[in-house]
Amino acid sequence: LSRMYGPLTALSNVQVDVMTALVSFDRVFEVLDLKPMVADRPGARPLKTEGAPGVAFDHVVFSYPAAEDVSLASLESIARADSAPAKEVLHDVSFTVEPGQLVALVGPSGAGKSTMTHLVSRLYDVNEGAVRIGGQDVRDLTLASLNETVGVVTQDAHLFHDSIRKNLLYARPGATEEELWEALAGAQVRGLVEAMPDGLDTVVGDRGYRLSGGEKQRMALARLLLKAPAVVVLDEATAHLDSESEAAVQRALSTALAGRTSLVIAHRLSTIREADQILVIEDGRIADRGRHGELLARGGLYTELYRTQFARQETLDPLAAK
Ligand code: ATP
Repeated sequence: LSRMYGPLTALSNVQVDVMTALVSFDRVFEVLDLKPMVADRPGARPLKTEGAPGVAFDHVVFSYPAAEDVSLASLESIARADSAPAKEVLHDVSFTVEPGQLVALVGPSGAGKSTMTHLVSRLYDVNEGAVRIGGQDVRDLTLASLNETVGVVTQDAHLFHDSIRKNLLYARPGATEEELWEALAGAQVRGLVEAMPDGLDTVVGDRGYRLSGGEKQRMALARLLLKAPAVVVLDEATAHLDSESEAAVQRALSTALAGRTSLVIAHRLSTIREADQILVIEDGRIADRGRHGELLARGGLYTELYRTQFARQETLDPLAAK
């Protein structure tokens, strides 16, 4: 997401923080006076689901929209000098995340992992095939119900320049004081806020109380806990993997993902070890799939990714290195 919204930072003084993690896209577009790439179809229905629904990609083919579509989602394409022909980014991608399960995406940079997560929250529509939540094509669902069902946490978890209370209430207006503290506790950040001079009324952000990257991600997880979506799409932060907060982030993640259907771009050893299924993405295709042990045993690209991205965490990550 941050990639997609990047050019906007230069184009506008609007508080771009608004546009990341867990926001209602309707409101963002209102602020920016731009149209999203997708809209409710006539006859769109709210998502009906009891408990966490499954998520399925069914022969999905996808290219980013061409540059001439002047809209938020294609600003990045416009910014690209070589944007003219729409390059196919995902080719015939099929997989299922069963209700309540965790599927991890791994793969080289540019393979298409973020693009897959964008399609779950329907930032774009597929060219062919379908993305389904609870068996229902996301194009047949109202964007409002999709926004309620799918919680998105990006790598770069931004907070508004405002109090912690307001930052949290944005995820669930009307949450009680007790619920706010409960969410902070679940996200392993309660002690931090309790120790701040103004507690929940402490102003955070670039011009306020400065949180570390790991703390920001845990605040985003507190917002996720308040929003309590049935489906979570998460891009794990890479920047703070070896910090002392690693164990806390890990506990916060386990709490935030428990009982939800999760699609996670994995950077943590603990996540790939716990994943019900790992999808190895290469050049817009699923090159391999399975659990950590079986993929490692097969060798190939996964073993290579493990060596370069995850193996060094064996020593850094005492909880995961069992
Ligand atoms: P990383 O690990 O570096 O984040 P990724 O696996 O998430 O990479 P994607 O961001 O999904 O990969 O990118 C897949 C392909 O789509 C790349 O070729 C990328 O250049 C292209 N791409 C990504 N976003 C856009 C966009 N908004 N417009 C056009 N092309 C895009």
